[in-house]
Amino acid sequence: MRAPLIAGNWKMNGSLELVATFAEELSQTALPDGVDAALMVPFPYLGIARSRLPEAISIGAQTLSDQPSGAFTGEVSGTMLNDLGVQMVLVGHSERRTLFGEDDSAVLARVQAALEAGLVPVLCLGETLEERDAERTEAVVLGQLDAVLDALSADQRQRLVLAYEPVWAIGTGRTATPEQAQQVHAAIRARLASYDSQLAETMKVLYGGSMKPSNAAELLAQPDIDGGLIGGASLQVDDFLAICQSAG
Ligand code: 13P
Repeated sequence: MRAPLIAGNWKMNGSLELVATFAEELSQTALPDGVDAALMVPFPYLGIARSRLPEAISIGAQTLSDQPSGAFTGEVSGTMLNDLGVQMVLVGHSERRTLFGEDDSAVLARVQAALEAGLVPVLCLGETLEERDAERTEAVVLGQLDAVLDALSADQRQRLVLAYEPVWAIGTGRTATPEQAQQVHAAIRARLASYDSQLAETMKVLYGGSMKPSNAAELLAQPDIDGGLIGGASLQVDDFLAICQSAG
């Protein structure tokens, strides 16, 4: 019922050459049936990625402004992303929360701006190691979720994708075990059901944090994990494709 989505997040990495490599490889290799794929590339490469990559691959940005337009030097609006044919945008990635001071209200404003522009917001949630050790994982993750869902209409909620990314597993090589990840995903799904049982059935909840070809299959086999948000391994086209294969 929920088609798996494998989304690569290049972060501030890549080059025109890497876009060209992905365009070439992904044009030659079919994705497994029923698997959706997306690439979140840096702003300067969005237009060329959209025009060179196969239509079947969604293109996403990594953040957006909370404002529609105006005197906000250096910012990029949802409408501009939409203009380029971008379909998705990450919101609330832990690097935005911790390095750029985006709190729950800033995250909500960006989710609303994305929805306003017709983009799919991929809302990222996750606890730090300190919070996990203090047994606050579910409180933190569900708090981040409620901060957004409480402010949206039922229709708006249906347009979101979620990504659970434990901060301690990002870029560290230390992946959550399938059981640890599934436990949090199940808690997220239970919280979704408290809003609307249909929402819990249909919303994709991706896992992110050191996902790679060698551990993707067992994570993706968990009942409440509907795909992956891949950082480091999404910079190698072969690894990205291998992860897509394990979702099939
Ligand atoms: P890594 O896969 O490099 O751990 O990054 C995960 C991530 O932050 C994806 O958004």
